[in-house]
Amino acid sequence: MHKVATSRVDWSALREDFPILQERVNGHPLIYFDSAATSQKPRAVLDVVRNYYEHENANVHRGLHALSARATEHYEKSRQRVADFIGAASADEIVFTRGTTESINLVAQAWGGKFLRAGDVILLTEMEHHSNLVPWQLLAGRIGARLRFVPVRDDGTLELEKLSSLLTAEVKIFAFTHVSNSLGTINPVAELCQKARSVGAMTLVDAAQSIGHMPLNVQELGCDFLAFSGHKMCAPTGVGVLYGGLDVLDSVPPWHGGGEMITSVTLEKSTFKKPPHRFEAGTPNIAGAIGLAAAIDYLEGIGRAEIFKHDVDLASYALQGMADVTGLHVLGPSRDRGGVISFVMGAAHPHDLTTFADQYGLALRGGHHCNQPLMRRFGVPGTSRASFYLYSTREEIDRMVDILDKAVRFFK
Ligand code: PMP
Repeated sequence: MHKVATSRVDWSALREDFPILQERVNGHPLIYFDSAATSQKPRAVLDVVRNYYEHENANVHRGLHALSARATEHYEKSRQRVADFIGAASADEIVFTRGTTESINLVAQAWGGKFLRAGDVILLTEMEHHSNLVPWQLLAGRIGARLRFVPVRDDGTLELEKLSSLLTAEVKIFAFTHVSNSLGTINPVAELCQKARSVGAMTLVDAAQSIGHMPLNVQELGCDFLAFSGHKMCAPTGVGVLYGGLDVLDSVPPWHGGGEMITSVTLEKSTFKKPPHRFEAGTPNIAGAIGLAAAIDYLEGIGRAEIFKHDVDLASYALQGMADVTGLHVLGPSRDRGGVISFVMGAAHPHDLTTFADQYGLALRGGHHCNQPLMRRFGVPGTSRASFYLYSTREEIDRMVDILDKAVRFFK
C-alpha cells in the first residue's frame, strides 16, 4: 500500500469515487496521467448533473414557472459557491464562461479594447499557454499595443530579477500563469501582483492549473482578474470562471451581445445589466455551473491543502523514479513544483513515446501542450507529459517508470 504517510485522506479509497478509473485500455488497467489536460469526474459531480437534467432542467432567469425558478436558484447558488471557494468578496465578481480561454478573451477584448492604446505594453511570460498569449496578440495587432515577456530560466522558473526593467509605467496589464502546464513551475502570484500594482498595472492570473490543486484566495493574491476552467478541477467541460473585482468588472463594457445581458432594447440601441450578467449573453451552461459547485464541494471535502501535498509528494516520487531511466530528461524545476512533469527521451519522438505508453494503458500527453514558444525556448519539438491529480497513486508511478524502462529498450 502506497499511502502518503502524513495524510488523513485515504487516497486509494478515493479512487472508488471515479468510475472511469475502472476502465481497461489495451488490456491494461488505465493509468490516467493526463489530468493537466482534463481531470476525471467523481460520481458526486456526475450525479448532480444528472439530477439537474432529471428534476430541474429549465432555462434560467427568464421563466416564471417553478422549474425555471429552481434552475435559476441552483445556478445562482453555484455562483456564490465559486465566490466562497476563491475568496471573492461577492458572487457578483464571478462571471461564468466556457473556460479559461474564454475568460482571458473576455478581458483582452472587452477590458483591453476599452483601456489599452497604441504603444501600451502587455506583459506576459515565456511560459504562457497559447490561451494567455494569442488573445493578447490579437488585441495588440488590432490597437498597436506591444507585447513583452518575462523570460524563463533553464530550470523552468521565471527570471524575476528582470522584472524591474520589464515592469515599467508603460505596462498596463501583467497576465501570467499560476502553475505552468508544461513545466509544473509554481509562480509567486502575490509577489508578482504586488509588483505590477506598484507601477499601476492590472493583473490577470491564469489559474487553470492551480485552482483545483492548491488553496487559492483572490484577495490574498491581490489580482484584478483570475481565470480558470471547471474541467481541470473535477467539473464538467464547457464551464469556467472569470473573477474580477466589482469596480473592475463594472468598468468593463459588454463583449458578447444577446439575451440575458440587457436591461432594455430598442431597435436602435440597448442598455446593459450590471456584472456579472452583463457578460453572460445567451443561455449559459447551467448544468456545468451546477456541476462546478458540486466539484467544489467534493474538493473541499478532501481539502485543497491535502491535495497539494499529495501532488507534491507524487511529483517528487516520480522525479526520483524517472531519474533512473536511461536517457530521460525532465524539464522544469527539480523541486517546489506541481504535479506536472514534462520529459523527453533522447531516441524517441514525444508522439512515439506517448503512443508506446498507450499500449500499456498509460495515458500521457505528447506534443507542445499549447506552449510552442516555450518548447522553442527549450529547443525541443515537444515533450511527453505526465500529470497527476488526487486519484493518482505512487503505485501507478512505479508502473509508469517500468513502461518508460521498456521504452528505452524499444527505441534504442
Ligand atoms: N492555461 C493553462 C495554464 C492551461 O493548462 C490550459 C489548458 N490546458 C488553459 C489555459 C486553457 O484552458 P481551457 O482549454 O479549459 O480554456
